[in-house]
Amino acid sequence: MRVVVCIKQVPSSRKVKIDPTTNNLRRESADGVMNSYDQNAMEAALQLKSRVGGQVTAISMGPAQFSLTLREALAMGGDEAILLSSGAFAGADTLATAYVLAKCVERIGGADLILLGCRSVDSDTGQVGPIMAELLNLPQVTLATRLELTADGRLEVDRLLEKYEETVSVRLPALVAVTSALNTPRYPRPVDIMKAARANIEVFNETYLECEGDKIGLAGSRTEVVKLFRPHKPDKTALMIGSPGESSVRIAAKIAEILTQRNVI
Ligand SMILES: Cc1cc2nc3c(=O)[nH]c(=O)nc-3n(C[C@H](O)[C@H](O)[C@H](O)COP(=O)(O)OP(=O)(O)OC[C@H]3O[C@@H](n4cnc5c(N)ncnc54)[C@H](O)[C@@H]3O)c2cc1C
Repeated sequence: MRVVVCIKQVPSSRKVKIDPTTNNLRRESADGVMNSYDQNAMEAALQLKSRVGGQVTAISMGPAQFSLTLREALAMGGDEAILLSSGAFAGADTLATAYVLAKCVERIGGADLILLGCRSVDSDTGQVGPIMAELLNLPQVTLATRLELTADGRLEVDRLLEKYEETVSVRLPALVAVTSALNTPRYPRPVDIMKAARANIEVFNETYLECEGDKIGLAGSRTEVVKLFRPHKPDKTALMIGSPGESSVRIAAKIAEILTQRNVI
């Protein structure tokens, strides 16, 4: 069974800088770690492999430093890692990101199962998995909390929804986006971290992936960040309206006056 796990590197600290001209994250300004949900996806892939055998391939689209996160995936137990990296991929929105990831899956000959996190903790759109599934014409299951291969070769998946849980059965090949309720990711052993540090990470670019130029990077992005700003924090200053001994009617009149001034009533 070949499982492909999509891994995104996200900033580990709050010291993230924003490029004032492009409104993009300056990823080089922060240390990167594996997106937490992707750790769950990786753990799920490794558990499936230990049950039925096969191969776990971690893929990531991003700049050269994303290879460090791919090494984490290898240290956890992944068999191979592929970095999708090129200047031409820069500025990608979710569509352009999903396109490159999908091209990679095609280039390596497909997968029985593609696992992703349900969302990234930085951009947080949750769109990459569903778009990838559409591009690859695969069935998709999101918000997975349990995965189980059944005797007939299908995958049974529990999904956690707002008010209830759902169990679905999906035929393979399929794409599944997982939540943190699925499992507890393993810590790599020091010896595996050392092995992963020396492992070869293949790098694929747009030429090798046979990408269409107008579907990658900024050119392939249909969305654009037009503005990035800190949300307005509501004024939480406390206002003492009455004083001890003041009549409740007078305090009520003061409150009414303030609410009227602020256009609340
Ligand atoms: C409008 C818009 C414009 C943007 N422009 C830029 C830009 O110019 N420059 C820039 O650096 N970023 C940009 N971003 C952020 C970038 O598009 C996203 O980081 C990327 O598309 C993934 O989206 P997401 O993080 O919301 O993924 P989600 O859909 O929330 O992630 C779900 C899962 O998809 C997988 N995944 C996501 N991204 C990757 C990846 N790169 N490699 C492997 N697996 C992945 C992971 O498994 C992850 O858990 C932009 C985002 C938006 C919404």
